Amino acid sequence: LSPVQAYLQQHEVTATGGNVPAPFMTFEDTGFPPEILRDIYSAGFASPTPIQAQTWPIALQSRDIVAIAKTGSGKTLGYLMPAFILLRQCRNNSQNGPTVLVLAPTRELATQIQEEVLKFGRASRVSCTCLYGGAPKGPQLKELDRGADIVVATPGRLNDILEMKKINFGQVSLLILDEADRMLDMGFEPQIRKIVNEIPPRRQTLMYTATWPKEVKKIASDLLVNPVQVNIGNVD
Ligand code: ADP
Ligand code: MG
Repeated sequence: LSPVQAYLQQHEVTATGGNVPAPFMTFEDTGFPPEILRDIYSAGFASPTPIQAQTWPIALQSRDIVAIAKTGSGKTLGYLMPAFILLRQCRNNSQNGPTVLVLAPTRELATQIQEEVLKFGRASRVSCTCLYGGAPKGPQLKELDRGADIVVATPGRLNDILEMKKINFGQVSLLILDEADRMLDMGFEPQIRKIVNEIPPRRQTLMYTATWPKEVKKIASDLLVNPVQVNIGNVD
C-alpha cells in the first residue's frame, strides 16, 4: 500500500467520481497561505481531519462534492477553507450580495458556523452575516445592508428575506448545504429549492449529510453537477 492508500484505508475514506486527487494528509500539503495556517495551528489542530484531508483538494478544483460523514468530523472547516481561498481569489463587492451562501438547519448551527468564519476567516478579511428565524428581521437586514462575503442562513428566514427582495444572489458562486438530511427532515425542502433557483447555475455546490437516504440522494442529484461522493467511516 502507498502512504495515500494506507491513509484512506485507515480512516475509512472513500471517494468516487473520477480523477479524485490525493488527500492532503498534513496542513503543509494544503498550500494554504501562512496566515491561515497560523490560525489553524493556534487553534491547536495537528492535522486535517479525514473529511478535510479528502475534500479540500477536490473543492479547490471547483468540483461539486457530496460528503457523507457523521457529526464531529470537522465538516465546518472542511467547507469554510475552500470558501476563504475562493474569496481571496475573487473578491466581489459584498455590497452587491454574498459570494458564498451556507444553508444550515438551525439558528444554533448557523451561529456556530458564523463563529468559525470569524475565527478562521479573519486572516482573509472575510465578512459574514447570519440570518435565522426566531429573532426580529430588522437588525439582520441592517447587517445584510452593510455587505457580507458569506451569508450563513437557515432556509426559512432566508426565503422570507428573499421574498422581500432584500437579498441578491446574482454573484453567489459557492453554495454549501450543511446537514442536508436534517434540513429535509425539518421540512425545508421547498425553501431550499426556491433559494437555489435564485442562484446562478454556474456555481460550485458542496453538500454535507450524516445519512444518505433517498430524499437526500434526490436533492443531491438535482442540485449537484458531476459530484465527487466522499464517504467517511461506515455511514450509509
Ligand atoms: P461537524 O460539523 O462535522 O460535526 P465540526 O466542524 O463542528 O464538525 O468540528 C468538530 C470540532 O472539531 C470543532 O470543535 C472543531 O473546531 C474541531 N476541528 C475542526 N478541524 C479540526 C482539526 N483539523 N483538528 C482538530 N480539531 C478540529
Ligand atoms: Mg457541523
